[in-house]
Amino acid sequence: MWERSKVTALASLYTPEHTMFRDTCRRFFEKEVKPHHAQWEEEGLVPKALWRKAGEQGLLCMDVAEEDGGAGADWLHNVILIEEQGRVLATGPGFSLHNDITSPYIRHYATEAQKQRWLPKMISGEMITAIAMTEPGTGSDLQSVRTSARKDGDEYVINGAKTFITNGQNADLIIVVCKTDPGAGAKGTSLICVEGDRAGFKRGRNLEKVGLKAQDTSELFFDNVRVPAENLLGGEGMGFIQLMQQLPQERLVIAVQAIAAIEAALEHTIAYVKERKAFGKPIIDFQNTRFKLAELKTKATVARVFVDECVAKHLRKELDVAGAAMAKYWTTDLQCEVVDECLQLHGGYGYMWEYPIARLYADSRVQKIYGGTNEIMKELIGRTL
Ligand SMILES: Cc1cc2nc3c(=O)[nH]c(=O)nc-3n(C[C@H](O)[C@H](O)[C@H](O)COP(=O)(O)OP(=O)(O)OC[C@H]3O[C@@H](n4cnc5c(N)ncnc54)[C@H](O)[C@@H]3O)c2cc1C
Repeated sequence: MWERSKVTALASLYTPEHTMFRDTCRRFFEKEVKPHHAQWEEEGLVPKALWRKAGEQGLLCMDVAEEDGGAGADWLHNVILIEEQGRVLATGPGFSLHNDITSPYIRHYATEAQKQRWLPKMISGEMITAIAMTEPGTGSDLQSVRTSARKDGDEYVINGAKTFITNGQNADLIIVVCKTDPGAGAKGTSLICVEGDRAGFKRGRNLEKVGLKAQDTSELFFDNVRVPAENLLGGEGMGFIQLMQQLPQERLVIAVQAIAAIEAALEHTIAYVKERKAFGKPIIDFQNTRFKLAELKTKATVARVFVDECVAKHLRKELDVAGAAMAKYWTTDLQCEVVDECLQLHGGYGYMWEYPIARLYADSRVQKIYGGTNEIMKELIGRTL
């Protein structure tokens, strides 16, 4: 077996401490998540108690600085957690959204008082977070969001609707992308945190999806929701710049999830084709099977090297917008290709939910859509040429 940790750009960065953290993650996902995931798929969300357990194990917001109550861990810990979650195909818990996508906005743009209000609870799992950018009328075109936040004395009054929001049912704190100056385009965009118990805030349906069955994805409604002015993150009108600064990490996270899914798909498929027989011999003895798997394994290896290189760059703060876009679009396209080919090698069993490859198939498709569609990724890359 090809050992990535010995040859990729991350090889020299792993320490015994990272290995211990991987063991903790593996134990947690094997014991606390894997046995219950099918039930959570039926229920459409994971219980809040799981978040507390993850907090107790130190699996939430690991990279928050020690002075803010965190462990001050490097981002490689976050990567390890995503990989271990991907290994058991547990797409339900929205930990990565909380760890890698929402918490950076608090870490980078919150005041000391805001950090003290929110970060300790985010680390313990008492406070689950979400970020609400997308609206029924606009997704890719973020500048066109219509949710408004009007200043009224020392409060903002928020009106509007969001959709497709991950952690939407469970979230206790939502970073809402809204317009504080609707006439100013991108420059009128601000990020305002809304607690889940504010009057006028309503959660809509837990949306029924093709995959990610255990993950809650929701519509959110804001009807004259009043929040104190100190819930604004950073300055008024800074929202678009803040999003542009943080979205590359979100895209890299999706690439890390993609390569974890690719490797899991191959592992399950290789085991299956050795077991399953047709015409009196194991499926792997057909040249087509071996050639197909040889091609997929090669592509997976190239992808792994590329993703690890992007992670290493990100750790050095050198990954730019185009680089993150390349990683997101190319690995998620590959994920869908690999998973589809692997499902084919399973025959009819591949289409049955009880087989891991079926779950991988259903869960993979959205990777090309969220975090910015792959078409938007090509736009971002194209602009730099
Ligand atoms: C499961 C799931 C979870 C999600 N989680 C969140 C979340 O937590 N928070 C959040 O804010 N959003 C979330 N989203 C929303 C997601 O980010 C959007 O769906 C995505 O950005 C696309 O927006 P849209 O659906 O409005 O599609 P549209 O923008 O309407 O795009 C439709 C099609 O047009 C193409 N298109 C649009 N503009 C261009 C262009 N300029 N050039 C070429 N093609 C273009 C797109 O690529 C796509 O193929 C989630 C979505 C899903 C499905």
